[in-house]
Amino acid sequence: MLQHDVIIIGGGLAGCRAALEIKRLTPNVDVAVIAKTHPIRSHSVAAQGGIAATLQNVDPEDSWEAHAFDTVKGSDYLADQDAVEYLTKEAPEVIIDLEHMGVLFSRLEDGRIAQRAFGGHSHKRTCYAADKTGHAMLHELVNNLRHNGVHIYDEWYVMDLILEAGEAKGIVMYHILDGQLEIIRAKVVMFGTGGYGRVFNTTSNDYASTGDGLAMSALAGVPLEDMEFVQFHPTGLYPVGVLISEAVRGEGAYLRNVDGERFMERYAPKQMELAPRDITSRAISLEIRAGRGIHPDGSAGGPFVHLDLRHMGKDKIMSRVPFCWEEAHRLVGVDAVNEPMPVRPTVHYCMGGIPVNTDGQVRRSADSLVEGFFAAGECACVSVHGANRLGSNSLLECVVYGRRTGRSISQYVQKRQFPEFDPQLYLNKAQERIQKLLAQKGTIRIAKLRQKFQDCMSEHCGVFRTEEIMREGLAKLQDLKQQYSQIYLDDKDNCWNTELIEAMELQSIMVVGELILTSALNRQESRGAHSREDYPSRDDSNFLQHTLAYYSPAGIDINYMPVVITMFEPKERKY
Ligand SMILES: Cc1cc2nc3c(=O)[nH]c(=O)nc-3n(C[C@H](O)[C@H](O)[C@H](O)COP(=O)(O)OP(=O)(O)OC[C@H]3O[C@@H](n4cnc5c(N)ncnc54)[C@H](O)[C@@H]3O)c2cc1C
Repeated sequence: MLQHDVIIIGGGLAGCRAALEIKRLTPNVDVAVIAKTHPIRSHSVAAQGGIAATLQNVDPEDSWEAHAFDTVKGSDYLADQDAVEYLTKEAPEVIIDLEHMGVLFSRLEDGRIAQRAFGGHSHKRTCYAADKTGHAMLHELVNNLRHNGVHIYDEWYVMDLILEAGEAKGIVMYHILDGQLEIIRAKVVMFGTGGYGRVFNTTSNDYASTGDGLAMSALAGVPLEDMEFVQFHPTGLYPVGVLISEAVRGEGAYLRNVDGERFMERYAPKQMELAPRDITSRAISLEIRAGRGIHPDGSAGGPFVHLDLRHMGKDKIMSRVPFCWEEAHRLVGVDAVNEPMPVRPTVHYCMGGIPVNTDGQVRRSADSLVEGFFAAGECACVSVHGANRLGSNSLLECVVYGRRTGRSISQYVQKRQFPEFDPQLYLNKAQERIQKLLAQKGTIRIAKLRQKFQDCMSEHCGVFRTEEIMREGLAKLQDLKQQYSQIYLDDKDNCWNTELIEAMELQSIMVVGELILTSALNRQESRGAHSREDYPSRDDSNFLQHTLAYYSPAGIDINYMPVVITMFEPKERKY
């Protein structure tokens, strides 16, 4: 059995920022980061548009209070306002710190960090490195981990969280290179395992975003919070689903339907294309439903709308959003200087997750905590995004809450002993799981079952939802879950067996999908990204609460937890 004082699962922005903070504050604490990818291949590296902070470089009128209000309004009043206060107050500090680390932010003429407009933000406050912001940030952080002596296990797949009697004790991991199984015991386990876009059939997320950390926590008995809130980004490139950053609209691009009309006028007359994502995604879906979508041959009634950059001019397109131009050119052959891009909503972000307090410690219930277990970033729900996240607030959450969580771990770990448990028990369990998958004599291919599951989630838990559609979806999911025992693997080897990893990831997808659908079915109102056609209004008297969903193979139990309201009373949301 291996051991480290602290193990962090996830080499994305949240995990790296936490690891760095622990080492900066307490260099003697032994910290390891584990990732199933190489850390710089974490999905954070793909973040494009930017990171919000009230630096006041472009807009001196901006303030943390305005940022906090925009975030809470954007969240449809479900965000915890104490958590939002930390997020927005600490934002300028974490940006300056990143800059000192060497992150190359784009600049104004006078040399200060540039800031651009973003959806739902009332001021120009999004800092960026062209449209490759995640790349710029993650590379510097990973470099800093190496300088600070953090041990990195890359391409190890974590299969199980060891959690006994309300206390996290370690993890079980599988080396993708050679099939070796290892247990790591730790005083503190932290998850920074990212999102779950791959639960759906069309997503902007990378192939590794399968919600493993969420599933492992749920299977260990930890509740998951607000899983019904799935963010659909308005502008996924059609038909591939990859992201065309909101920065493109931030820099002035228009959304148009088949008649060439800027249809956002009907849905958000003030903010137009820069309305929050939930509203813009619904608007696009309604246009498509009403027959004002576009077909590839340009005729009406098709599956996408247009994102039009042409009036921005070549120089601006190539200097501010060059990567988005390149994506459209490479993937669908569109030259955005001369033609509009085909776009439609794509699954993008997970507002819910592992419930944590503002120190990053995981909750067991509304009023108790799990010892030795912390989480931050997209897999965690602190909750700063509530029912709908504003663009450029997620990178910010990773850095602010990565730092806060690192800081609290560096204190917490001083008081902890190494926990006791029987490693053989967990090793045997992991070996049996792998053996069973390899030996299984089924007839179903993994890719086929995964596709059916993803199609079912997209069809039954999409932008618009009803009780009937979701109940049908849950029945289908139960049937698909049964088929998991009939998948077969061609590859029986120990060396780089990606088929085995896909089989384990499929289990994560299935657990997370069921939690999303069940939480969505139980929330009988429309709020933020959760839009019920059978309950079209927000219902504060019954649902101004966070969902806590507890998983067990027998079924899912739903509880609710109060929302923290300290600054802004809920109001109607208009843009
Ligand atoms: C295309 C795209 C563009 C975006 N642009 C922006 C933007 O401009 N601004 C913004 O604010 N937000 C943006 N976001 C959202 C933001 O990038 C993410 O929410 C954030 O980067 C998540 O970081 P993270 O550290 O939580 O997780 P990730 O970066 O997703 O990292 C997860 C880590 O966990 C590891 N892991 C997962 N499961 C396991 C396992 N079983 N075993 C071992 N390791 C595991 C992975 O290997 C990886 O290292 C964007 C997202 C996408 C998809």
